[in-house]
Amino acid sequence: MPRVMLSGGDAHRYLSTLNQCTILSMNRSHSPWALRVGTVAGIPIRVHATFLLLLLWLVLGAESGQALHETVFVILVFMCVLIHEISHALVGKRFAIQTRDITLYPFGGIASIVAQPPPKAELLISLAGPVSNIVIAGILYAWVNPETLIKQDLAALTTVDRLFMTNIALAVFNIIPALPMDGGRVLRATLNVLKVKHATRIAARVSQGLCLLMAGAAIYAQQPMLFIIAFIIFFGALQEQVRSEARGIAIAYTVGDAMIPRERLEFFTHGTTVSKALRTALTSLQPLYPILLGDRVIGIVFRDDILEHAATQSDEYIGSLTGPEVPTIDVNEPLSTAFTTLEDTGGSVLVVLRDGAFSGILVHDRVSDFLLMQGIRDRYPMDEDAEWTTPL
Ligand SMILES: [Zn+2]
Repeated sequence: MPRVMLSGGDAHRYLSTLNQCTILSMNRSHSPWALRVGTVAGIPIRVHATFLLLLLWLVLGAESGQALHETVFVILVFMCVLIHEISHALVGKRFAIQTRDITLYPFGGIASIVAQPPPKAELLISLAGPVSNIVIAGILYAWVNPETLIKQDLAALTTVDRLFMTNIALAVFNIIPALPMDGGRVLRATLNVLKVKHATRIAARVSQGLCLLMAGAAIYAQQPMLFIIAFIIFFGALQEQVRSEARGIAIAYTVGDAMIPRERLEFFTHGTTVSKALRTALTSLQPLYPILLGDRVIGIVFRDDILEHAATQSDEYIGSLTGPEVPTIDVNEPLSTAFTTLEDTGGSVLVVLRDGAFSGILVHDRVSDFLLMQGIRDRYPMDEDAEWTTPL
């Protein structure tokens, strides 16, 4: 365990748990607390504000005279984590998989890639991170005193010795085959390359089994931090499985399959007043309404907003209640792309266009329902073209 190799103090205790690396294949917007500190190969590098709190904690907690030393060490470790994440991103780039950004958190780094890579690419992208730590460790080995390491003489460890061990720990921990960590992705990608069915499900089950073993070991060794890590990975694996299966189903359908078509929708024109819209809102169960200017959707208004502002803004045009512009998507795009766009924009609805003209809307909750029902429908023999009946 890396813990043994590090000498005393808060920094060391903390760093023994710094082993997380996650490649997010979802296209989530970054947190407002993730401060941009630079750009490498066109990829924005962010540091989460809590990381600065961590540095403060280490400086205040360090023994006198050690504060600067500890801070430098932590920064060096995070440089290694950054190289690990950049390695993922650069290999991704070779496969035309974009990385939206890299964010460093106190628990490690996250590289957010914008699409699910094909198996072979996922295998190499996932391996790149741990391999980069092995390479760093290999370079540092020239300055390492192997005797000190073998004897586990903690007091005699130099900064280079500690950095060497931390890199070995980063590589070893991340290659444990547990989703959503690198090793779990390597396992899933390998199963996919070998054309094994239900690769994600198998990889998730292996991950969860390992997590249970890890949790058991944590209880036995009385290591609460290890127990928490096992807990986080367990649910991370579960989430990854659900996400991957939804994406697997979504890829088989188009936006047009899951959208609510224009003819089944109530909508307003830009000249509708709030009071007139209220009458519609009180007689329909539709939770949101497109606002049209000719054949173009200029906004979406939610029923709750109409109800909230009906008393004070009854004579105003309905357009005054709309939020930011609603993103659009073509009716023939795969449904999985719609998921990405919704996650990217953080919205709950997309305007669907056919040949550039308004054709319907796609509501996030309804897409989830659609996939759930479709998954169930696939298991029952029924007419392929059985129509969906309820609009919303
Ligand atoms: Zn990694």
